[in-house]
Amino acid sequence: AAKDGGRGRHAVYTPAMGARSRRRVALEQGLRTAVARGELALHWQPKVDIAGWRIVGAEALLRWQHPQLGAVGPSEFIPVAEQCGLIAEIGRWALAEACRAANGPLAGLVVSVNVSPVQLRDAHALAVLREALLAARLPPGRLELEITESVFIGDSDGALERLHALRALGVRVALDDFGTGYSSLAYLRRFPFDTLKIDRAFVSEVLLRADARAIVHTIAQLAGTLGMRTVSEGVETAAQLAAVRQAGCHEVQGYLVSPPLPLDRFLALRAGWPVRQAVPEAG
Ligand code: C2E
Ligand code: MG
Ligand code: MG
Ligand code: MG
Repeated sequence: AAKDGGRGRHAVYTPAMGARSRRRVALEQGLRTAVARGELALHWQPKVDIAGWRIVGAEALLRWQHPQLGAVGPSEFIPVAEQCGLIAEIGRWALAEACRAANGPLAGLVVSVNVSPVQLRDAHALAVLREALLAARLPPGRLELEITESVFIGDSDGALERLHALRALGVRVALDDFGTGYSSLAYLRRFPFDTLKIDRAFVSEVLLRADARAIVHTIAQLAGTLGMRTVSEGVETAAQLAAVRQAGCHEVQGYLVSPPLPLDRFLALRAGWPVRQAVPEAG
């Protein structure tokens, strides 16, 4: 079905292909031109400091509007981009766009960008980051990179060294989705993270299960001891907020505050955010 020894470079549709592989091919082909055609956008999700109930940060989350397939989520297209060598271009676009926003309409906030292990394996990762910061004239401390634990798996290509070099530039580094997957406490000693993001899986069960509650408390305490900030992901209710607050978590992110929003709607949310807003009470 494909030329180039079946490596999928010039893949075409055949009747024998199932719907899933047809979608996959469509995504791959669409991604090749998505940046140039302006189909990608960043949405922004606020991070709120629990103690002061203020918006202190914003996480950039990629959105793709495919001309035929409609909205395609990053959980589906990021892995495709990683596999077909397009993550570098897409990642560079996201970083540049985020840095521009950070030194423009999002001034005053820490802006976070997700970076996959595949991006960190690229020898140009450091140069790409430097270029994005310089082009936007953004002080490095205003940018936070969110990486996942999988960066530690089989680090044969220097991803961890690269991460140390990025941090030496002054950018902040957060460990995303902490507690899932290949989680190991040893990772916390291998890299000086600024922030730990407690995975939504624990937050969503914090009221339902004693084990999840214990894990959230333990992560928050451990992070505090190590001098790292904690963010609870996926906080959807005031009761969950109360639980993670009691555990000593510093910041929350989730539908309770807001889903990720297009920039203009994020700015409207921020503009309407009261100087002193009461922390939502658990009902
Ligand atoms: P993530 O970085 O862990 O982002 C959190 C995901 O949870 C986002 O999904 C967000 O919309 C969703 N979320 C936030 N609050 C809630 C909540 O209260 N309830 C529920 N049910 N979900 C919530 P999204 O935007 O679909 O992104 C999925 C993943 O795609 C991200 O997970 C991240 O790993 C990846 N991703 C997104 N943008 C980028 C990017 O620019 N580069 C890279 N490499 N990966 C990205
Ligand atoms: Mg993230
Ligand atoms: Mg996450
Ligand atoms: Mg996640």
